This record gives sequence, structure tokens and C-alpha cells, in this order.
Amino acid sequence: MDSFAYGRASGIEDALAEGSGPNTVFLAGGTELLNWLRLGIAKPERVIDLTQLTGLAEIARLPGGGLRIGALARLNDVALNDDVARGYPVLSQAILKSASAQLRNLATIGGNPFQKTRCGYFRAEEALPCNKRNPGSGCSALNGINDRHAIFGWNESCVATQPSDPATALVALDAIFVTVHREGERRIEATDFHILPGDTPHIENALRHGELIVGIELPAAAPHSAYLKLRERESYEYAVVSAAVALDLEGERISRARIALGSVALKPWRLTEAEHSLVGVSANDNAAIRKIIEGSFGEAKALTHSAYKITLAKNAAVRAVRLAARASP
Ligand SMILES: Cc1cc2nc3c(=O)[nH]c(=O)nc-3n(C[C@H](O)[C@H](O)[C@H](O)COP(=O)(O)OP(=O)(O)OC[C@H]3O[C@@H](n4cnc5c(N)ncnc54)[C@H](O)[C@@H]3O)c2cc1C
Ligand code: SF4
Repeated sequence: MDSFAYGRASGIEDALAEGSGPNTVFLAGGTELLNWLRLGIAKPERVIDLTQLTGLAEIARLPGGGLRIGALARLNDVALNDDVARGYPVLSQAILKSASAQLRNLATIGGNPFQKTRCGYFRAEEALPCNKRNPGSGCSALNGINDRHAIFGWNESCVATQPSDPATALVALDAIFVTVHREGERRIEATDFHILPGDTPHIENALRHGELIVGIELPAAAPHSAYLKLRERESYEYAVVSAAVALDLEGERISRARIALGSVALKPWRLTEAEHSLVGVSANDNAAIRKIIEGSFGEAKALTHSAYKITLAKNAAVRAVRLAARASP
């Protein structure tokens, strides 16, 4: 690990001033950043510790309904908060299926969406062709080991996936990331936070250098919601595929559906076509739900070894719709 200077921000203004310096990164829980430093994925000259910004760890109800979660709230504190667990079970479940209890006690909700892909070539200790890590060097996974890679939104520059569980739930909930920068405040829809590879797979999200997430806003509660994570073992493991679903129901009929798939692309992938077609369908009509979801995979495209993920993702989405319908408010 290369050496770097360490600073501790005393307030938001201080964090913005310090964070705008060249080759400077923020540190929240440190659970992801420390791995980047160890592997040489990040080589910052300066690290600005945010942990003294205690006002950013609160979870509060919004006046018009909904919740605001401070960016520095620890994952376990978010998942176990009563308002989150009752009103947004999809988020609570996604968090509790992330990492381990020890990590969740340290990791923050604001730091979580910044985690980088689990692509083995990207995280290798030796330098391998990887456009995300060394722009212009190629993509080793394109014709290499790609069984855990993308089925949506990829191109030849990068076929990796974004592994965050909470980010997938936040996209299904239409959450908003509230940010501050020296040039002002912004509100970014969760679905616009991560960026598909294009020609610049090393650019991963919509934030500018030195921009700070201060909070995440959730709109009205979504008690009929659920998160399904399919992985190789049931604990302490990243998803092969996941599905986050939030439903509005009128009786047994679906009046609104929101579905996001995780670990299938470089961003959580909304099944918008299925969301529209599910309106008016009975939540008990498994055959109709399956037909609609299977019909919404027109953009799915397998790599040499990732075709099984298309079947897995369809099944996950169908099962998650059923779980969300059964969730009791
Ligand atoms: C062994 C292991 C297993 C894991 N398993 C899972 C899993 O199954 N599912 C899952 O979803 N995640 C998993 N994770 C990822 C884990 O959830 C993230 O490491 C964690 O949420 C990151 O949060 P942090 O506060 O520690 O971020 P940090 O490591 O402190 O920060 C990472 C980067 O995020 C940026 N950042 C942090 N906070 C802010 C902010 N408020 N504003 C702007 N930028 C900010 C900075 O650039 C920083 O450099 C795992 C991690 C490990 C180490
Ligand atoms: S899939 Fe992306 S992260 Fe993986 S080797 Fe290719 S360019 Fe790098």
C-alpha cells in the first residue's frame, strides 16, 4: 500500500474544501476503500475521513411522507430501524443480506453504492488488461472468465456488473441521492447514479470530484416490497443475481410495480416494460406474472458463460414479485 496523507473533516464545508483537492478521496466506513488501497486500485495522495460528521448519520421522517437517511448511517442501523424495516422491507432485507454483521456495523449507506465490481481481472493483484482499471488496455473478461458478468447494458469495453444489494433496492424504491458540492446541492435519482460502460468504463457514477452524498431520500412507504438474493452460499456472499420489487396493490390486483435486478449490469436494471404490463394483473396469477417478466428480457444478451444468468434473473424477478405481494404492511 502506498502512503497517503490523512485528514479528518470537521464539518460539511470543511469536507467539501478538503475533498476538492487533487487525487483526494473520502473515507466513511473504510470497508471498501481499504481494499482499493491494498490492491492498488486507488492510489490517493490524500484521504479525508468523514466520520466526525455525526449529523449525517440520522434517519428521520420527511414531513410529506417518506424517510431521509443520512449518508453516514451504518448499514445495520438502517436495516434495523423500525421505519425502514416496516415501511421499506426491500431495503432492510437487501442490507441484511449484504456482507457480514461486522462489516455492516462499520459500512455506511452512503459509501455502499461506490463499491466497485467484483470482476476478478479488475481486482487482480497483477496488472491484467482491464479498461476499467487501466483505460485502453482491453477487457480480459470479454472472452475470458465471465460467468458472473453482465447480461444487460454491456459492450466490448466492459462486461462487469455492479454488486451492491442496497443500491438495487434503492433503485426499486425510486430513492433520491442528495449531494453537496462546492458548486451547490443536487438531487440524483438512484437509477441515474451508476453509469453504463460506454467508452469510459472507468467512470462509474454521476458524481463530480469532491461531491459528497449527504442523504438518501425514500418516497412514500412501500410495505409490499421484497428482496431476493441468489448466491452460491446463503451467507457472506455477493449475489449472482438479485431482484428488488415494490408493489402497490388494490385488493389482489397490482396497481403499480417497480422491479430492479442486481448484479446483471453496471447499474441496477429496471424492468420497465414488465412494470407497465403488470398493472391490473392479479398478484396471485403466477402464469401471467411469469409471462410478462419473461417477455421483458428482450434487451438481455449473454456472454460466453453468462447465459444461465438470464434464466436465473427471470426466476428471481417472478419469485420476488410473489414475495412482495405476500409481504404484510
Ligand atoms: C468482504 C466484503 C463483503 C461484502 N459483501 C457485500 C455484499 O454482499 N453486498 C453488498 O452490497 N456489499 C458488500 N460489500 C461492500 C460493503 O457493503 C461496502 O464496502 C460498504 O458498504 C462501503 O461503505 P463504506 O462506508 O465502508 O465506504 P468506504 O470504503 O469508506 O468508501 C468507499 C468510497 O465511497 C466514497 N464515499 C463514501 N461515502 C461517501 C459519501 N457520503 N459521499 C461521497 N463519497 C463517499 C468514497 O469515494 C470512498 O472512497 C462487502 C464488502 C466486503 C469488504
Ligand atoms: S469486465 Fe470490466 S472490469 Fe472486468 S476486465 Fe473487463 S473492463 Fe475490466
